[in-house]
Amino acid sequence: MSDPFIPASVTVEALQQESHDVFTLSVCAPSNYAGFTPGQFNMLYLPGRGESAISISGDPGNNSTITHTVKAVGNVTRALCDLRPSQRIGLRGPFGRGWPLEQANGRELLLIAGGIGLAPLRPVLYAALEAPKRYARITVLLGARSPQDLLFTEELQRWKSHTDLQFLASVDNADANWQGDVGVITQLIPRIEMNPKNVLAMICGPEVMIRFCAKSLRDRGVPADAIYVSLERNMKCALGICGHCQLGPHFLCRNGPVFGYAEVERFLMTREF
Ligand SMILES: Cc1cc2nc3c(=O)[nH]c(=O)nc-3n(C[C@H](O)[C@H](O)[C@H](O)COP(=O)(O)OP(=O)(O)OC[C@H]3O[C@@H](n4cnc5c(N)ncnc54)[C@H](O)[C@@H]3O)c2cc1C
Repeated sequence: MSDPFIPASVTVEALQQESHDVFTLSVCAPSNYAGFTPGQFNMLYLPGRGESAISISGDPGNNSTITHTVKAVGNVTRALCDLRPSQRIGLRGPFGRGWPLEQANGRELLLIAGGIGLAPLRPVLYAALEAPKRYARITVLLGARSPQDLLFTEELQRWKSHTDLQFLASVDNADANWQGDVGVITQLIPRIEMNPKNVLAMICGPEVMIRFCAKSLRDRGVPADAIYVSLERNMKCALGICGHCQLGPHFLCRNGPVFGYAEVERFLMTREF
């Protein structure tokens, strides 16, 4: 078995700008690549810069290209967003526990994404839309700061009119062209069609959004054990050794990043060091 600390060298295939500070970075999969589970992440490494945990945002059915969607916030992510095709970067992964999509069979699948939180949920949607009849209903709720912050805009148009999807989007600040909802994403929850006893919800976004969405779902009668969330913490080794991403008894890299809401509710909003 290869050393999980040593990154594979992979070639950048494409870099697509999604918004002013978010880019989708596709790399050629290494020869021994065995695919990923939606919700898993890779560690992307740039010599002289460092390494960052980035979720896999592409189609789980595609084993030749690995896709990540990166928000340029600091040293490593800014450099990742400056890459050009044919440059090489280091990649370790995939790591972590993904979304429990198989548990959604026969149930209503509800995806709630805020901002860059759509990236780790997009592979779930790709997989679900491969076999939509497996689910009693598929709903996507999307929130963004403004229309300019929406990601994957061409796909959003397709999802909006997809006959197998209930799709609602809301932005905090609209412009003159925006025709969707305005306000926080939680306001969409009371309006959607759903049978709360048959839902499996997956939420990804800022922790404050996760808490309020989970509360709204609970208020509509969704059981706590039907809500899953993906969390972020500063991560270094990704192998459950260094402890940087520890949250209470959990190591996010090994036990997460996806958790049952009931498992982590009391640790949310805990400041990291
Ligand atoms: C499991 C997991 C999946 C992730 N998936 C994605 C993804 O798909 N796309 C994406 O753009 N980012 C993702 N992140 C966040 C990403 O890892 C950080 O933004 C990145 O490591 C920051 O590194 P930097 O050197 O660019 O910034 P730094 O210079 O290290 O930090 C810049 C700012 O970002 C904050 N920050 C650093 N790391 C994190 C973190 N892990 N969570 C929250 N804030 C952080 C710092 O406190 C600082 O304020 C994920 C993180 C985890 C743990």
